[in-house]
Amino acid sequence: MTEIFDCSADGFAPHDLKCEYLVIGSGCGGGTAARVLAEAGKDVILLEEGGDFLGPARLTQRDTPMYDQLYVDRGGRTNKDRTINILSGRVLGGGGVINASDVVPIHDSTWEFWQKHHGWKDFSPTAMAPYKAKALLDLSANRIEEKQINRNNQILRQGVEKLGWRGEVMLHNRLNCQGLGSCLIGCPAGAKQNPRMVSINKALAAGARVFVRARALQIRDATTDKKRVEVQTLDAKGYHPTNRFAIDARTVIVAANPVGTVALLRNSHLGNRQLGQRVSLQPQVPCVALMPDRVNAFDGIPQAYALTEFERHDAEVGLTGFRVESIFGTPGVLGSLVSAPGAQGKALMAQLDHIAAALVLVPDQPVGEIKVNSGRPEVDYTLTAEWKTRARQAVRSAARAYFAAGAKMVVVPAAPPVLIHSEAELAKIDALTFDPVTISLISAHQQGGARLGPDESTSACDLNGQVWGTRGVFVCDGSVFPSTSSSHTMTPIITMAHALTDRLLQRVGQPN
Ligand SMILES: Cc1cc2nc3c(=O)[nH]c(=O)nc-3n(C[C@H](O)[C@H](O)[C@H](O)COP(=O)(O)OP(=O)(O)OC[C@H]3O[C@@H](n4cnc5c(N)ncnc54)[C@H](O)[C@@H]3O)c2cc1C
Ligand code: SF4
Repeated sequence: MTEIFDCSADGFAPHDLKCEYLVIGSGCGGGTAARVLAEAGKDVILLEEGGDFLGPARLTQRDTPMYDQLYVDRGGRTNKDRTINILSGRVLGGGGVINASDVVPIHDSTWEFWQKHHGWKDFSPTAMAPYKAKALLDLSANRIEEKQINRNNQILRQGVEKLGWRGEVMLHNRLNCQGLGSCLIGCPAGAKQNPRMVSINKALAAGARVFVRARALQIRDATTDKKRVEVQTLDAKGYHPTNRFAIDARTVIVAANPVGTVALLRNSHLGNRQLGQRVSLQPQVPCVALMPDRVNAFDGIPQAYALTEFERHDAEVGLTGFRVESIFGTPGVLGSLVSAPGAQGKALMAQLDHIAAALVLVPDQPVGEIKVNSGRPEVDYTLTAEWKTRARQAVRSAARAYFAAGAKMVVVPAAPPVLIHSEAELAKIDALTFDPVTISLISAHQQGGARLGPDESTSACDLNGQVWGTRGVFVCDGSVFPSTSSSHTMTPIITMAHALTDRLLQRVGQPN
């Protein structure tokens, strides 16, 4: 097995690095692409800006060091008006290392929507079925067992079932899960079958060279067969630049998550006017319930059950409606969500073991834009009135489910917090404006910004993922979707990465 090169090591300065395929970003998209290409016998280098975190010695279950090391901008990135906290991974394996491990594939109607309305002619549900199967295999997708559904998730399920609504126990990508509950800051038990555990190990076994603490700065000569990528090495913590080197590659695959991908392409003076456009953040609203009995929501798998009654799949409009999913983080994260001030906040936190929590997932239209100013990305995204209306309905449904399960109070962590003591007070939710500074929404599923399409005037990449105007620079991550792909993005991105890499290997219409 080839080793992982840590570019933060003293004196690390490689010379004359060359490869056939250079993959930038090691998450669901990049990790999968690197592995498929390496297993096909190609000469592959995989670059990752984050470090390699594996096992309990490095994944310490401590909020501060883990957010510092595993998340982009320490988990502090926001959109321009600061309404939405944009979370994504910055570690070997990317977001799969810190995600909630739910496996939700792309619905057939979404493929049909993209075929009909976005010119994705070859991407029918039937054509994509083998790639979905590969993704599910990579993830060892399996249903969460009944005994693994903790009290937090059971409470939501109880409420949903009492109301006669539809819900589901989700598929996940854990094997031998020990129920430690720290999934969002990494799994020290190695239970998650994420890109770090699966595709990167397989890529290494097939001979790929993997570099960590290596940030791609710029892609040059993008229309030639010898592209040169400038790389910045970083120190052991990943915050200070140390050295620089270059890699020559025939083909470059960018998979740095929408914000990173658009930033790298723009900083390389690549991409047309469509690059950065039509970004979906899929904002999620937190919702907290105070229960009469102990919940101990921090114990066990955080996200196992979803209320799906109101999710809508439609080949004419794509994914709409909403779903509600139980979730829990570490006490520090919950403390930041329980936004009641002073004594009220203290009283709520003192009852942490009685708190149940959920996120309402409200798929959005791709109304955002990623801009790059002086090299730095900025996400311009304004919530639409239509989204706000659906989000209020979603919060109302979550609150109704909690009251049906016996909640004493439901709190929407806004400023000021919305405290609802019974069904009779549900109208308080109508007062939620979602205005800047009144709420902190969460985005874990950024998509778009480099969408594929048949026509250069309406897309950033062709249907093979090749950036228009380049010869051999491809995008292979969630940026390529023309609208929100699913309620969760890990499985869609792995599916798409298999499909795009296969097209690359078959050289469907490729000049190189
Ligand atoms: C908290 C959280 C919970 C989630 N829960 C779920 C879930 O339960 N189920 C689900 O399906 N999805 C979930 N997701 C979403 C899912 O994990 C992501 O959509 C997915 O990991 C994105 O894959 P990607 O390959 O596009 O990008 P990423 O996984 O983000 O990988 C991109 C990588 O590129 C690196 N990079 C960026 N720029 C550069 C550069 N210039 N040079 C070198 N490297 C660079 C980054 O450091 C990063 O590691 C969650 C996400 C988060 C943040
Ligand atoms: S709940 Fe399971 S997957 Fe999550 S951190 Fe714990 S052992 Fe790992």
